[in-house]
Amino acid sequence: MKICVVAETAPREARVALIPDSVSKLVKAGHEVVVQRGAGVPAHFDDASYVAAGASIANDADTAHAGAQVVVRVQRPDASEVTRIPEGAVLVSLMAPATAHATVNALSQRRVTSLALELVPRITRAQSMDVLSSQATVAGYKAVLVGASLMPRFLPMLTTAAGSITPAKAFVIGAGVAGLQALATARRLGAVTSGFDVRPAAAEQVKSLGASFVQSDVVRAASEDKGGYAKAQSDDEAARTLATIGTHIVSQDLVVTTAQIPGRAAPRLITADMVRAMKPGSVIVDLAAETGGNCELTVLGETVNENGVLVVGAANLPATMPTHASQMFSRNVLTLLQYLVNTDGVLSIDLADEITGAMVLTHAGTPKGR
Ligand code: NAD
Repeated sequence: MKICVVAETAPREARVALIPDSVSKLVKAGHEVVVQRGAGVPAHFDDASYVAAGASIANDADTAHAGAQVVVRVQRPDASEVTRIPEGAVLVSLMAPATAHATVNALSQRRVTSLALELVPRITRAQSMDVLSSQATVAGYKAVLVGASLMPRFLPMLTTAAGSITPAKAFVIGAGVAGLQALATARRLGAVTSGFDVRPAAAEQVKSLGASFVQSDVVRAASEDKGGYAKAQSDDEAARTLATIGTHIVSQDLVVTTAQIPGRAAPRLITADMVRAMKPGSVIVDLAAETGGNCELTVLGETVNENGVLVVGAANLPATMPTHASQMFSRNVLTLLQYLVNTDGVLSIDLADEITGAMVLTHAGTPKGR
């Protein structure tokens, strides 16, 4: 099977879909891997390391795609890039399905089967293929570092000849994969940590990381759907959530927000008035900025200063740590490819399969569900 690794074209995307270590495993399994020249360079994997892993290097995107049965990338191709994918091939990529209409149309015209990495089911069996989890881990870690670097104060407690420093307070809203990693990172840096989520299961996880859990009567089993995700709140629950957060946030120095509802805009959990009630010098890092933000003042990709409180509209933080983000992404893609390859060494797409069926966006060109 010929697998093509594409150089990413999205602005500021520095990750690569397969790193040399994974390429070497695919080559050993009998596959041919072609890497577009320079594809790994932004993530610090040079062409020579891919050649050493057994790949060949193609000079440009057209040559890399020629004859490929599988095309792997991090970000979805635009409609013009789809024309390079050989007819009938399989595309494995993040697809941002909600806004992928033009790409899906182009894939349909070329009879391409596409697997959207973000549609991986959140089940134990699929955990090692789950790029949402691996990249959320990177984002949660980096969010704390971004916030800490903008703060005018230390995170840890210090006792020095120049006096004592009290530890900063770090508050994480949304204790899923990114939020738990943010709590762990802030704690490692010495902050006094607290977390909040609407799912009761999150309370124990927050506490296990040495953080306190901010209690509210909106935290109840019915807040969670059967997939483990949060459900959208009623107006009354949302108002009570805002009251809980509003009381706690005023004393916080660093806030990381990660709250998401699958398929919807991010819930609004920090109002402009709450920001104005915080101490100048406090920092909010909004990891939900790409889906509209948890904070009313968030602007995607920008840092807003409101009365001395900084609100960071974090955009694609995993791409700012491309080496490890790519290593984890690549491992997820490798595991998925290994899962899809049948005993004859050919990729087989079983729409009835719990994992594959959930991830298919177009099958032999036909958009799913038609
Ligand atoms: P996510 O990115 O969808 O949301 C982040 C967090 O925001 C979640 O914890 C959610 O409960 C919380 N949230 C939503 N609305 C909120 C509100 N109004 N106020 C406060 N918090 C709010 O979540 P995620 O990180 O993808 O994880 C979701 C669930 O899936 C978790 O239970 C996680 O353990 C589980 N999970 C399972 C697997 C697996 O089994 N393969 C993999 C990853 C995650």
